[in-house]
Amino acid sequence: MSKGVVIVGAGHAGFNAAVALRAENYTGPVTLLGDEADYPYHRPPLSKTYIKGETEDARLWLRPRGFLEKKDILFRPSCRVEAILPEKAAVPLADGDVLEYEHLILATGSRARPLPVPGHDLAGIETIRTLDHARAVRDLLPSVTDVVVVGGGFIGLEFAAAVNAMGKNVTVLEAAPRLLGRSVAPQVSDYVLAKHRRDGIEIELGAAVAAFEGDDEGRVSAVRSADGRFYPARLVIVGVGALPNDELARAAGLTCDNGIVVDEYQRTSNPAILAIGDVAAHRNPYAHQHRLRLESVQNANDQGRVAARTITGQLEAYHNVPWFWSDQGDIKLQMAGLCLDSNRHVVRGNPDEGRFSLYHFRDGALVAVDSINMASDHLLARKLLEGSIALTPEQAADTALDLKGLLKP
Ligand code: FAD
Repeated sequence: MSKGVVIVGAGHAGFNAAVALRAENYTGPVTLLGDEADYPYHRPPLSKTYIKGETEDARLWLRPRGFLEKKDILFRPSCRVEAILPEKAAVPLADGDVLEYEHLILATGSRARPLPVPGHDLAGIETIRTLDHARAVRDLLPSVTDVVVVGGGFIGLEFAAAVNAMGKNVTVLEAAPRLLGRSVAPQVSDYVLAKHRRDGIEIELGAAVAAFEGDDEGRVSAVRSADGRFYPARLVIVGVGALPNDELARAAGLTCDNGIVVDEYQRTSNPAILAIGDVAAHRNPYAHQHRLRLESVQNANDQGRVAARTITGQLEAYHNVPWFWSDQGDIKLQMAGLCLDSNRHVVRGNPDEGRFSLYHFRDGALVAVDSINMASDHLLARKLLEGSIALTPEQAADTALDLKGLLKP
């Protein structure tokens, strides 16, 4: 009998790979190992509704409890894998068990990038990556008024908008000259900045953090910026990016380069080991085949499916259109495609009304669409990109033209 598939990491990617294996009629043993205590859960609500107390734990589970058992998938929570033995095709566990595998899937995700400035270990300085982090922050919130968010990326801004709506005094400190600088075009950054400021969030750009100051009890009291300004804070959320959890793979001798390097079928440099999700450094067809990592639910889910197909002998290259969303108060930002090196941008809709899309073109070809409160544009963009359907900048700008018509054969 097959030794089966062992999956390390029970987040979006690992969970979905396990489920996809069964959907592809894989009949061998499937074991899903996760170092968190909770049942596999949706991460996106953590920085949005969960911290406000609007989402109960049970609403977070990726599928109802009992689902994995029904699919004959063995889930082992609170089980941290410390090593892989590739030469034995085995994973030793802390309790002495050794799991042999025919295929191993690494779905270890990413972790919050630390900010090692003086005072970083004071109480009240938190990140939001796991459900446990979000629980800690939710429990702290009733006792604090002044909140500082370090980092104007997606998670920081989602959190800032959520606690601003709860009536807290929120300041966002972003070291770069604009918000969301690594992910969206300047026009979208400008809109997001203006909207959050109108809603009462203080936002400082070009504000690097020099230190965290504490009180006599070792609790954060203020954030000091590099230009010597002080921002009072009893709670600080640090959201300055993520690092891939690729240490296990490195120690096992797999090729890594900002994540675990995989081919288009999610195979690592060891043919029995695959990697998926945030940790997988892959060549993406929507980025000129440049190698990158995507930190999104779409990427985690789709790569989980590709890995399951690889293992069941149905090789199908990862080709899915990248897409992402971020809910920041009233702003529903949705992105399709990758706008990395686009060279022409067309606005469709009305930024003054808070409903518009920015179409990105590279050498005349549509490569990405960022939509603000325009869900229909986003869904259409995914279809246009998926079908490589030609759209000119002039057509994108013409609001009298129904772009849905382009989808018809
Ligand atoms: P993860 O979901 O991080 O899962 C990896 C798991 O592996 C973790 O449970 C980790 O603890 C475990 N693990 C690591 N090492 C080991 C080990 N050695 N042994 C055992 N287990 C291990 N994406 C969107 O598309 N839209 C959003 O709105 C959005 N919002 C987000 C909000 C927050 C607060 C966060 C943190 C992320 C958000 N994301 C969002 C990103 C998205 O959640 C991730 O891209 C996705 O979770 C990646 O899935 P993954 O399985 O690769 O990694």
